[in-house]
Amino acid sequence: MNFIEPHAHFVCRSTDDYQAMAMAGCLIIGEPSFWAGYDRCSSAGFRDYFTQLTEYEPRRAARFGIKHYCWICVNPKEAENVPFARKVMELIPEFLDKPNVLGIGEIGLNRNTPNEIEILEAHIDLAVKTNQLVLVHTPHMEDKLKGTRIILSALKNRPELGPDRVLIDHCEEHTLPIVRDSGYWAGLTIYPTTKLTPARAADLLEVYGRERIWVNSACDWGVSDPLAIPKLAMELRHRGWSQQEIEHVLLENPTQFMSGSSHFQSM
Ligand SMILES: [Zn+2]
Repeated sequence: MNFIEPHAHFVCRSTDDYQAMAMAGCLIIGEPSFWAGYDRCSSAGFRDYFTQLTEYEPRRAARFGIKHYCWICVNPKEAENVPFARKVMELIPEFLDKPNVLGIGEIGLNRNTPNEIEILEAHIDLAVKTNQLVLVHTPHMEDKLKGTRIILSALKNRPELGPDRVLIDHCEEHTLPIVRDSGYWAGLTIYPTTKLTPARAADLLEVYGRERIWVNSACDWGVSDPLAIPKLAMELRHRGWSQQEIEHVLLENPTQFMSGSSHFQSM
């Protein structure tokens, strides 16, 4: 079954993972900028990372027939040092014209600090100014509900950024309803130790419906599963979903959201 993996961090995955994804039917991978498992100590470190995302990783994916897109930003975990984050942000515009860049992301919050909020707002302003799509990370565990509320109010302060141009990712049972009510796109992440299982993601899709929602594995350097989406497809099939209904969520929805960027070409 063909699917899109719209949120995965392949810079820290093996080439074997690309091969397994291709064999499972993955057509497209979207890779947001994130914390690489360590704090970078210079803006040059970020420049190298953005170059890796825009030049090297698309070639690696193409070897397996997978189209690779990415998102550029300073991730929330490294946004605590405001002067440093602003210096790195100066690099972003030169990467936005690269052919595989879909927008600004994954911005958002990690520990909901005032410094993180300042850099979140600066990214939202940049997205408005440069007319980019936005991909938002919501915090983990106990910080998630508060962080999601702060993110929604920062977005609401910039109504120029239409709800169809923003996706708020890593939603769970307690945050999905408020994201749905706000009109923004929502993301569900299937991840082994935190976030959702395939069964919980399937429950949420059955309760809240299939519109304006994508699913992903967010696989990264942690214990995570690049094949989480095919496992969700199996769960949905087991529950009686038709092929067409499954493809609506796994293929058509990410295509619809990513098509908001002129760089996106569906397969
Ligand atoms: Zn991520």
